[in-house]
Amino acid sequence: TVFKEGLAKTRDAFVEKVEDLFVRRKKIDEEFYEELEEILIGADVGVNTVMDLMDELRAEVKKRRIEDASDLRPILSEKLIGLLDAEGDATLTMAPSGLTVILFVGVNGVGKTTTIGKLAHRFKQEGKKVLMAAGDTFRAGAIEQLEVWGQRVGVDVIKQQAGSDPAAVMFDAIQAAKTRQADILLCDTAGRMQNKSNLMEELNKIFRVIKREIPDAPHEVLLVLDANTGQNALQQARLFGDKSGVTGLVLTKLDSTSKGGIVIAIRQEMNIPVKLVGLGEKMTDLQDFDSEQFVLALFA
Ligand code: GDP
Repeated sequence: TVFKEGLAKTRDAFVEKVEDLFVRRKKIDEEFYEELEEILIGADVGVNTVMDLMDELRAEVKKRRIEDASDLRPILSEKLIGLLDAEGDATLTMAPSGLTVILFVGVNGVGKTTTIGKLAHRFKQEGKKVLMAAGDTFRAGAIEQLEVWGQRVGVDVIKQQAGSDPAAVMFDAIQAAKTRQADILLCDTAGRMQNKSNLMEELNKIFRVIKREIPDAPHEVLLVLDANTGQNALQQARLFGDKSGVTGLVLTKLDSTSKGGIVIAIRQEMNIPVKLVGLGEKMTDLQDFDSEQFVLALFA
């Protein structure tokens, strides 16, 4: 039901069109396929994925000798769930014992800080000791913004002044986390895109510093993507995906897009599981991603 509420816009735009199609066209014919194809592409599912999906649906229809559109509905849901199922586990990987370090990467404005704040809140609710590291020392206001979240959820932020070396901030943060026996350290990083290779170098340096202190950390590297940005989100996924050791995706602002199909497109492209989704601006508006629940929220 949380999904259902958060996905209201996608439901209204995409799902209603699908429903309407299945009601209006009782028979499966060329026009039916064409309309379905258009709706799926319109929801940002991705052209290649839609083409493959249509081929599969046609094959199923033939194999099972389906004539009524209504008999195709459950097959469509099943296929969509299949497209979303990731290889990896969608739950967050934690350290077997001691400190868990989670690194957040992604370009400015996608919702990194907000996601860190929400996750800090969740872990705190679970009774864990949480710290945040202000690793975005580049963007004006980034440190303060993280501190605002820190105050809101009652979690300390380890920081240095603006412009300082993010790797040094991480070093400090890990020391602080060890001293205070924290369970979880959530690390913000810079998201400027003007200079791609610098950003990757910076991330590599952060990795090295973290690994020197805790060899199996970071336990997760979460790439945060804004669901509203469609093809841009896909591009960012490609850009970060190969080089920065991303282990999971966070898709934010699903509540404010009518094109929730982007989840499927990104999932197809990346082969990295979507672990969390943002469904609003409040600290409780963060959900574990569950492909079945997601599709059911859309179609049930
Ligand atoms: P950052 O630059 O990546 O750290 O992005 P921020 O965390 O500052 O978020 C940018 C804007 O997106 C803020 O206004 C947030 O309130 C908003 N935002 C973040 N996540 C969500 C979400 O899941 N839903 C909605 N509606 N807004 C969000």
